[in-house]
Amino acid sequence: MSESVVVIGGGPAGIEAARGVADLGLPSILIEQRERLGGTPIFANYAALTPYFEDAEQAMDAMIAELNARPLAEVRTNTTVTGLSGEAGAFTVELSTGESLEAGAVIVATGFDHFDPGRERQIYNYYQYPDVLTLQDLEAQLKAHEVLVPSTGKPPERICWVQCVGSRDRNIGNEWCSKVCCGIASKQAIEVREMVPGCRAYIFYIDMRMYGYWETQLYWPAQEKHHVQYIKGIITEVLERGDRLVVRGEDTTMGRPLEVPMDMVILSVGMEPSAGTKSMAGVLGIEPNRYGFIEAAKPPLDTVSTSRTGVFACGAALGPADLEDTISSAGAAAGKAVALVRRGTLQTV
Ligand SMILES: Cc1cc2nc3c(=O)[nH]c(=O)nc-3n(C[C@H](O)[C@H](O)[C@H](O)COP(=O)(O)OP(=O)(O)OC[C@H]3O[C@@H](n4cnc5c(N)ncnc54)[C@H](O)[C@@H]3O)c2cc1C
Ligand code: SF4
Repeated sequence: MSESVVVIGGGPAGIEAARGVADLGLPSILIEQRERLGGTPIFANYAALTPYFEDAEQAMDAMIAELNARPLAEVRTNTTVTGLSGEAGAFTVELSTGESLEAGAVIVATGFDHFDPGRERQIYNYYQYPDVLTLQDLEAQLKAHEVLVPSTGKPPERICWVQCVGSRDRNIGNEWCSKVCCGIASKQAIEVREMVPGCRAYIFYIDMRMYGYWETQLYWPAQEKHHVQYIKGIITEVLERGDRLVVRGEDTTMGRPLEVPMDMVILSVGMEPSAGTKSMAGVLGIEPNRYGFIEAAKPPLDTVSTSRTGVFACGAALGPADLEDTISSAGAAAGKAVALVRRGTLQTV
């Protein structure tokens, strides 16, 4: 039997789960494949976080400092998990470093990847046109406090976001809504309007899906205070004409074709299961869902147990999630893992 809980993935979910386990009095060992903790908000260069515009790097550094302050929490970077044997209460976890660890429970927090907009269809010409960017490309510019059209090096006069790129798309199998991209696009539009006041900002959407309080925190201020224009329409093509881009599609409210010039087009790419999430499902012997995220065993009332007793999951490894959901599920996974180890039972708690 072991009292330790191994947490796989050092993003917001894994950091919170490892801290939670230590706070509840058991040793936690956090395994991260990269050289540092912080997850996607750090390595994808997120600037300000929704909905409070908090600096992403400072927020992640504060989480990491909290974790490092717990003597019961141990961190191993540049490491991943290659095997799991045994059973709840007495697992043996094989590491890529050739060592193994004994653990009473395991928490998977291996997160998501951004949809690659050039992978399936090329209608947005992401890899052809330098001025077609993704949400995370623009985050990197916002983090550097400089919004510039890549091909000219000048601030944009017209910028737009195209929603639901790689989400809600049955043709490519990504049927889910990625939950965060309507809010992230609105947040970015506010930031661009503040940094480049003369720039006109448009968001082309199928449905606006604001997440809980983001409706009043982001959506209404974007329109009423920052004059971002929301246009219900389907964009079917991004073309180059002269030195500008042109977005083409249909204005579905007016029922007529739409063709507008833009300096920059931002693709609101969705969330997909990360390569690590897909591979850990196999390594740990837990069921993925039909999309490759980890299947929660008993939703909606138990969202963090998996098909293998003693293995829990949290954060975006379970499906699209914002940070509030991520942190909540990490706390739930930590609580259930500690309860299971303490009870010394093989039943799912
Ligand atoms: C463009 C964009 C902007 C966003 N901005 C916001 C925002 O402003 N506010 C907000 O609330 N939410 C935002 N989100 C959502 C937010 O990024 C996620 O909720 C959050 O990152 C999920 O945290 P996580 O720890 O589950 O996953 P991740 O952040 O993806 O972290 C997963 C970690 O696991 C590691 N890992 C993966 N596989 C392995 C493995 N096999 N072994 C070891 N380690 C592994 C990875 O290296 C990574 O460090 C945004 C999402 C997108 C797409
Ligand atoms: S959050 Fe908005 S942009 Fe993202 S998939 Fe859902 S509806 Fe589309």
